[in-house]
Amino acid sequence: MKTLTMLIDGQSAEATGKATFERRNPLDGSVATRAPAATPEDMTKAVDAAARAFTSWRETGPGERRALLLKAAQALEAKAPAFIEAMAAETGASAMWAGFNVHLAAGMLQEAAALTTQISGEVIPSDVPGSLAMAVRQGAGVVLGIAPWNAPVILGVRSVAVPLACGNTVVFKGSELCPATHGLIVEALNEAGFPAGVVNFVTNAPADAGAVVEAAVSHPAVRRVNFTGSTRVGKIIAQTCAKYLKPVVLELGGKAPLVILDDADLDAAVSAAAFGAFANSGQICMSTERIIVDEKIADEFIARFGAKARSLPLQDPRKGPAVLGSVVDMATVERCNAMIDDALAKGAVLVCGGKAENTLMPATILDRVTPDMRIYGEESFGPVKAVVRVDGVEAAIDSANDTEYGLSSAVFGRDVARAMQVAKRIESGICHVNGPTVHDEAQMPFGGVKASGIGRFGGNAGIHEFTELRWITVQTTPRHYPF
Ligand code: NAD
Repeated sequence: MKTLTMLIDGQSAEATGKATFERRNPLDGSVATRAPAATPEDMTKAVDAAARAFTSWRETGPGERRALLLKAAQALEAKAPAFIEAMAAETGASAMWAGFNVHLAAGMLQEAAALTTQISGEVIPSDVPGSLAMAVRQGAGVVLGIAPWNAPVILGVRSVAVPLACGNTVVFKGSELCPATHGLIVEALNEAGFPAGVVNFVTNAPADAGAVVEAAVSHPAVRRVNFTGSTRVGKIIAQTCAKYLKPVVLELGGKAPLVILDDADLDAAVSAAAFGAFANSGQICMSTERIIVDEKIADEFIARFGAKARSLPLQDPRKGPAVLGSVVDMATVERCNAMIDDALAKGAVLVCGGKAENTLMPATILDRVTPDMRIYGEESFGPVKAVVRVDGVEAAIDSANDTEYGLSSAVFGRDVARAMQVAKRIESGICHVNGPTVHDEAQMPFGGVKASGIGRFGGNAGIHEFTELRWITVQTTPRHYPF
C-alpha cells in the first residue's frame, strides 16, 4: 500500500485535518493507495501558490523551460517500473499498457520542450503611420488540469506539459482511481527541478470532486481549464467554467467507428480491429467501439477477427504478461454484462467471449448489432465490441455518423482515394485510413467533435489553447490625433 502526499508550493502537503481516501485494487479489493482528501480550501492554497509562481515563471526563456521539460521526460522514463506497479495495483492495467503510457508521456514532455521556441507571434500591417503592431502569444496564468485513470500517464502529462511550455503554472488534479500513478508524474516533474509553485498536485475523495474543482475554476488566477474524462462530467465542468467565464478544453468520451469497405485488406483490418478494440481492455477514449463491415466480406472478417480475439491472453497483470488485464471496476463488468444481455435478447450473435463474473473480462464480439441495442450507441469502455453489417459505402458512412460522439474513427479500403472520401465525410476529430482508431502522437492535433469535446491538445494547436493572443503596438513616430 502506498501513502501519498500532494504537492503545494514545492512542499509535500497533507489535506486539511489529514483527511484521506483509499483506492482499492479492482481484483482483490486490497488497499492500493491512501491519498489526501483535499478540501476546497486546500485547492485554493494550491492555486494561490501557482499564481505566485506565475510572476517569475512567465519570464523564463525557452531554454530554461525546455531543459526542465527534457529532464522531466528522463525522470518519467526512469520511473517506468514504478508506473507499471502502480497501474497494476490501482487500475488493473497490463504492463504493456503501462509501459506504452510512460513511453508516449515522455514523448509528450519532449515535444512540449520543443514547442518552447514555437510560441511566436506576427507583425501585422497597421494603418496608423509609425505603428508597429504585433500579435503576441504569452502564457495565460494558472492552468487547471484534470485527467482520468484509463491512460493515466499520457493524459496526466498531457494536462500539464504544453501549458508549462507556454509559461503557465499548473495545478494538476489527480484521479480518485489512480492517485499514486498520477503522483508519480508529479514526482518526476519535481525531480526535474521546476521552481516551487510552478507544478502543484491535489487529490480529492470522489464525493468532493465537484466542490474542489469549483474552488479552482472560481479562483481569479485560473485562466484555463482542461478536462479529460466522461461526457457526463465534461458537461458539468463546462457549466462550471461558463459560470466563471473560463475557457475550457474538453476531451470526452467516444464511440469510434472502424469502417471496413468491401475491398479492404482483411488481415490488416483484423489486426487494427483487434488492437483498437482490445488494447487496455477497450478502456481508451479512441477504442474501436463499432466495427462497420460491408456485408460482402462480413463472414470472412468475423471468422478471422473472432479467431484473433480468442487468442488474446487475459490474466491478472501482477502475475505475468497479458493483453487484457483487469478492467477498472465491477461497474464496468456490470455495464458490459447488461449490454451483452440486451444485445443477445434483441438478436445479436455472440462471436466470442461473453459475460464476466469478475474484472478479468474476456475479449467479446457481438455480431449483427442493430441501432435498437444499447451497445450500438453507448460507450462500452470495456472489451465488449459491436459489429454492424452494412450494404455499401453510403450505409457505412451513415452508420459511422449515427452517434452523439466524434473523437476517433478509421476506414479500411484498398482503393485509398475512395477510403479518403469516406474519411472526409465521417464526423470526427480524428480519422485514420488503413490504420487503427487508437493512435496518438504528441505533435498531432488531438481532439473531438460533437459530444466528444471542444478544443485540441498537441503541437501548435496546444499552444493556441494554452496562451493568450495579445495585440501589442509600439508607436515609433509622433502620432496624429484628431483633436
Ligand atoms: P470521469 O468523467 O468519471 O472522471 C474524470 C474526472 O472527473 C475525475 O478526476 C473526477 O474527479 C472528476 N469529476 C467527477 N465528478 C465531478 C464533478 N461533479 N465535478 C467536477 N469534476 C468531477 O471519467 P473516467 O471514468 O475517469 O474516464 C473515462 C472517460 O473518459 C470515458 O468516457 C473516456 O472516453 C473518457 N476519455 C476521454 C479521452 C479523450 O482524450 N477524449 C481520453 C481518455 C478518456
